[in-house]
Amino acid sequence: MGRTGLMVSRLGFGGIPIQRDTEEDAISVVERCLALGITYIDTANGYTTSEERIGKAVAGRRDKVVIATKTGARTREDAEKHLALSLKRLQTDYIDIYQFHGVNNTKHLEAVLEPNGLLAFAEEAKKAGKVRHIGITSHQMDIAKKAIATDKFETIMFPFNVVTDEAATQLLPLARQHDVGFIAMKPLAGGMLDNAKICFKYLFQFSDVLPIPGIEKPQEIEEIVEILEKSPRMTSAEKAEMARMKQELGHRFCHRCDYCQPCTMNIPISTVLTSASFAKRLPEDRFFSDMVAKAMEAAAQCADCGDCEQRCPYQLPIREMLNEQVEWFEAKKKEYAARKAA
Ligand code: SF4
Ligand code: SF4
Repeated sequence: MGRTGLMVSRLGFGGIPIQRDTEEDAISVVERCLALGITYIDTANGYTTSEERIGKAVAGRRDKVVIATKTGARTREDAEKHLALSLKRLQTDYIDIYQFHGVNNTKHLEAVLEPNGLLAFAEEAKKAGKVRHIGITSHQMDIAKKAIATDKFETIMFPFNVVTDEAATQLLPLARQHDVGFIAMKPLAGGMLDNAKICFKYLFQFSDVLPIPGIEKPQEIEEIVEILEKSPRMTSAEKAEMARMKQELGHRFCHRCDYCQPCTMNIPISTVLTSASFAKRLPEDRFFSDMVAKAMEAAAQCADCGDCEQRCPYQLPIREMLNEQVEWFEAKKKEYAARKAA
């Protein structure tokens, strides 16, 4: 993994979906991953129960795994609290890769880099042995490029999959040039792509990219490991299917690049357009009450100005898609309420 010098399994474990499991199931999913040879575990301070469950699953074999966690803190004080909490929940005295989470705009990157700011804190934690390597995660291409160019981060995590594939030409070469380890988040576009064979075979062709699929059930990781072990190379029929998939999804698929922003009505457009992926990953009570619910409320206020569509590099019919998503969310919310009442 770049200049960290860490060697990890070809596939990592993404720790978002285990929030939806019971604790017992979550622990056995992590244990199954370890048994299959996975040595890289990704989680975050913001993933509610994830760190604690991982901590329980890896207890007694801490030295066999690389644990990467994240802080979304904007202040040094909060970052200090987050790190202390992560260490406690993970039952460890060091984090292998400590990442700044979701650094998607200039202001946040500045807060990370400012003197005596978040990075300075992480560097001190590194000197104290609490953190071994420092990384950064982003969804925004320009910010990710700037972050790599600072040479302050040892790893970058960025969305990379068969459809959202800009990283292949725009970011990965830069990461290689700066010897920065590359972690691919959303290998299945957060659950929006369902052809695991094609999605993973696509990523396996980049031998220095570490995909970290979010895993909720043992069968999911077993399926991916089987692809890797049996035939990681794409056949010509699969290549044709990949081209068809890209073509079909291209006009209705939000890449979460946020080039459509700023929205006149402050609508978090990409969150709304990719809400199906949150539905697959978040516990239901959070999905209907948290960030996605707020995004849907905002989307219902769309002023129909069309400015976002002018800026979207994929020419998505954003207004039409926002309406569809709001309707879809309302229908799902009603079903959920009926289920809870029953
Ligand atoms: S059309 Fe709607 S979503 Fe797009 S910029 Fe205008 S208000 Fe925002
Ligand atoms: S709507 Fe278009 S510009 Fe906005 S995040 Fe999605 S793909 Fe990017």
